Amino acid sequence: MSKDLSNRKICIIYTGGTIGMVPTEDGFAPKRGFFEAELGRIKDLSSPKMPSWDLIEFDPLLDSTNMEHIHWNQIAEAVGERYYDYDGFVILHGTDTMAYTASALSFMLEGLEKPVVLTGSQIPLCELRSDGVDNIITSIQIAAEGVVKEVCLFFGDSLIRGNRAMKNSADGLLAFTSPNYPPLAKIGININYTAEGVSGSRRGGSASGFHVQKIDKFRVGVIKLFPGIHFGMFAPIAEEGVDGLILEAFGAGNIPSYDKSLSPVIDKAIEKGTSVIVCTQCPQGTVALGAYEAGSALVKAGAISGFNMTTEAAVTKLAYLLSLNKTQKEIRILMETDLRGELDK
Ligand code: ASP
Repeated sequence: MSKDLSNRKICIIYTGGTIGMVPTEDGFAPKRGFFEAELGRIKDLSSPKMPSWDLIEFDPLLDSTNMEHIHWNQIAEAVGERYYDYDGFVILHGTDTMAYTASALSFMLEGLEKPVVLTGSQIPLCELRSDGVDNIITSIQIAAEGVVKEVCLFFGDSLIRGNRAMKNSADGLLAFTSPNYPPLAKIGININYTAEGVSGSRRGGSASGFHVQKIDKFRVGVIKLFPGIHFGMFAPIAEEGVDGLILEAFGAGNIPSYDKSLSPVIDKAIEKGTSVIVCTQCPQGTVALGAYEAGSALVKAGAISGFNMTTEAAVTKLAYLLSLNKTQKEIRILMETDLRGELDK
């Protein structure tokens, strides 16, 4: 039995993505006004048990591949401007970078005490068998129920914490996973919130209520290690002085020891003020820096452990901390601290 949510009010923010795309000569692309018309065709949306809702449509609508931090700022501001007018927010977004946006928003929406649910679809609403209808209806219900008061992502059959999400399938309908944290809810006949998932919810970032922190520093790089890598190739990155560098290392945070160019490159980067964070390429498990001799050079160089953060979480958290103008020393402490439920030590 679905709950009566008719006394709740939800804001739907449509940013683009497959869900509202139409076929064009060059493949699927978003089209202004089309999504609103498609919503009008979804009968469940006008059920007397559904919350009332308003739609905000972004201009331009984006394939999420084109999302940049300026768009995260736009989404965060769209929520911020309407924060006190609604019980919850549903953000419709392309699946390709949805996990990054969800993670970024989890940091940017400081002191959040309402549900912000990201969703989308693998099949456009205009096509047969679209997964968009169920994803939208369920996300609106979750946003209206208000059990989970954080940035989360609903897709297929699972509600997961935004900063734990990873896209794990390019074409499956269960396209997202949260390998290091239990789902916040599993969706079958009912929406079953899990005590385990929901209990770890962590608000924070603002001592004085809700606040939007924009991202305005985003000179961040990611290097994925592979067998045979020589770090000398990446020396220009250290020279140019990116503000943050994420190394996706092997296993528990291991790097090859055959390559003597690593230490000077990392040393130089850190000396120039770059924060170097080590994540693991394994979707599951955590970085244990220094557990193996093969990772000890990173410890000596002063790299920061990303523990079990996804790369999506590490990139966006780093951008958030840089935008807060934290010093390199503060970034070290905060990157290794659980701010919004994004890591376990
Ligand atoms: N390329 C699309 C996007 O991320 C894919 C999708 O929405 O599923 O916008």
